[in-house]
Amino acid sequence: MPYVSGKDMLTKAYQEGFGVGAFSAHNAETIQGILAAAEEKQAPIMIQVGQKVIQNVGLEPMKALIDVYMKDITVPVAIHLDHCRDVAQAMRAIQLGFQSVMFDGSALSIDDNVAKTKLVAEAAKHLGIGSEGEIGKIGGTEDDITVDEKDAQITTKEEAVSFAQDSGVDYLAVSIGTAHGIYKQEPELAFDRIQEISEALNQPIVMHGGSDVPDEDVQKAISLGIAKINVDTELRVAFTEGMKECLANNPEEYHLAHSLGAGKDQMKAKVMEKIDVFGSAGKADLF
Ligand SMILES: [Zn+2]
Repeated sequence: MPYVSGKDMLTKAYQEGFGVGAFSAHNAETIQGILAAAEEKQAPIMIQVGQKVIQNVGLEPMKALIDVYMKDITVPVAIHLDHCRDVAQAMRAIQLGFQSVMFDGSALSIDDNVAKTKLVAEAAKHLGIGSEGEIGKIGGTEDDITVDEKDAQITTKEEAVSFAQDSGVDYLAVSIGTAHGIYKQEPELAFDRIQEISEALNQPIVMHGGSDVPDEDVQKAISLGIAKINVDTELRVAFTEGMKECLANNPEEYHLAHSLGAGKDQMKAKVMEKIDVFGSAGKADLF
């Protein structure tokens, strides 16, 4: 089981100028699809456990499931806790053996965000794993929390630097023009800001809302300092479309193995496509 600290993985990606896909898993089939894609592409990846799947399946069962499927995997993987808004949950994930945790205090005051993120970052540091924090408000809907477009603000360099220093996180999610969910219109990325923040921080930056951002924009953002790209919506769409196709072809297909399997195949193909875009194919041997 080649688990790698999220910090080591993203530091390397940042130095080498490629992006690591952080792919959200929701059940056994999505875990299998993500891991099979990474293995086939020989890519280091992060597998994300988010708040909806924690409500639905549970934190510990997801960790256990990923561990089981990791037995045949040879590429570096970091299990990442996504958008955690409760310090106790982050501590639990750290105890369970996650390699990376995000505390999202972006809905809190700056002082509370710093204080809580710092608790998580310090615990992560002691165990040699990576931590992520968020400063600024990323637009769109995540876990039933919606940030209106008018409230989504591009993070300033000063905000990013003081938050990173005060909280001690290893990588930072900033608001740079992307949004969670499906875009109503093509996102306009604040490339100058990404570059400015990256140069000032000199540490990996995280892109949330990576679904459906044009490939060349993602690649440009990676060249400017984005090292982790979160992809969830596009994978869920691929999985669901795969299932729908299977059921449309045979409305009386009651073998879940067939419909879920069709979802898995489409999701795996999408993950492989993303790995190519991010430039992480073949990078497994750097670890
Ligand atoms: Zn996010």
